[in-house]
Formats: sequence, C-alpha cells, structure tokens
Amino acid sequence: MGIKKNIQNIQKEIPKDVTLIAVSKTKPLEDLLEAYDFGIRDFAENKVQELVFKEENFHKDVRWHFIGLLQTNKVKHLVNKVHLIHSLSSISLLLKIEKEFQKADEIANTLIQINIGKEESKSGILEEELLDFIDIVEKCKFVKAKGLMVIIPKGNDEINKCYFNKTKKIFDELKEKKYKNISMEILSMGMSNDYKAAIDEGSTLIRIGTGIFGTRNI
Ligand SMILES: *Cc1c(COP(=O)(O)O)cnc(C)c1O
Repeated sequence: MGIKKNIQNIQKEIPKDVTLIAVSKTKPLEDLLEAYDFGIRDFAENKVQELVFKEENFHKDVRWHFIGLLQTNKVKHLVNKVHLIHSLSSISLLLKIEKEFQKADEIANTLIQINIGKEESKSGILEEELLDFIDIVEKCKFVKAKGLMVIIPKGNDEINKCYFNKTKKIFDELKEKKYKNISMEILSMGMSNDYKAAIDEGSTLIRIGTGIFGTRNI
C-alpha cells in the first residue's frame, strides 16, 4: 500500500482532536514529501543528525519532533530546529536542555517520558521519581513540560490498555496540580501496532512510522 493510502486509512480512524505524527526515521526525503503533499506537517525523528539534515532540506512549515534517546552533547544541535522534544528522560538531560536553550534565549518545549513498565532497557522517569523530577523542572527558566510521552512494554491488547490507562491517570493527576512550567496538554502515546488502544485510553498524539511508511530496514 502507498503512503497516501496509509495516511488516509489512519486519518479515517482517529478523532479530529488526535494529532498524527509521521515517524520518518531512516526514510528518504521523497517519502516524507509524499506524506507532506497529503497534508502531514508533523514529523518525528530519533537521531539528532537526521532531524537536523531533514529540517534543513525540507519544507519550512514542518514541525519536527524528537522522539529518541537524546545524548546531552547533542542537545545544542536541536536549538531552533525542534518543535517538541518527547524524550525528556533524566535530570542531566533536563539541565543540559535548560543550559543550551538559555544560550539561544529560546524556550524548549518538552514532554516528560515515563518508563511506565519500569523496563531496564528503556529510558524515562519512573513514576516514583516523578515528583523529584518536577521539582527541578519548576526551577527551570527555558524548559516547559507540555505533557507526557510513553513507550509501553510489548504485550497484548489488554496489557497495552492497562499501561496506557496507568499513564493517563498520571497525566490527569498532574493536570490537576498547578506546577510551574508544567502543563498537561499533550499525551504522546500509541504507535503503529497499538494506537487504537492508546486513543481509547486518552492519547492526544500518536506516533506512526511503519503504519505510514512501511517497514524499516534498520
Ligand atoms: C520508531 C518509533 C515510533 C514508531 O514506531 P512504529 O511501530 O514504526 O509506528 C514511535 N515512537 C518512538 C519513540 C519510536 O522510536
């Protein structure tokens, strides 16, 4: 199936207030162009160099999302390029983003990545570390947390729903509180294989790669 058809099928299934992000990692600009021509303006990458290259060589009205593990020494390259960093996942990264965006007098919009399955192999803040983490976000001047991002453990539909629901509960709890620099507007959850369950459980933004562009070689 073609890229346009894939997008059309997904758009038919998702509510209007859910944002569809095309995860274009490893894909060539021709593929992105096909999605762009069909109306997609939000693209996500998981490598800093690739995001920077594509940002510099593609339409300027695209919003670039960073969704990968972000090394502190690469943060500076994202300044003025990235619309939203979904993978705010450690205190050291938070402090580095604050420092690099301050230098450019820019606000960094971020999502706090939650390691909801407490998986060793995944990054993200653990639920029990969240309040300490928020303390530090509140002291920042150049970082805003606009919501949460989650990558759930592999599982069946029922288990997926459970993790999405757990994340939504945290999202709703934080929304009630009036923390400085923190507003719960975006809940980034759901990928090609589980986005329907994610939307059922309250996702506002889904990140779709394979489901739009087909399988990746790497
Ligand atoms: C690759 C990736 C996706 C997209 O995954 P698909 O299964 O191809 O839709 C979504 N989120 C993150 C964080 C990713 O790294």
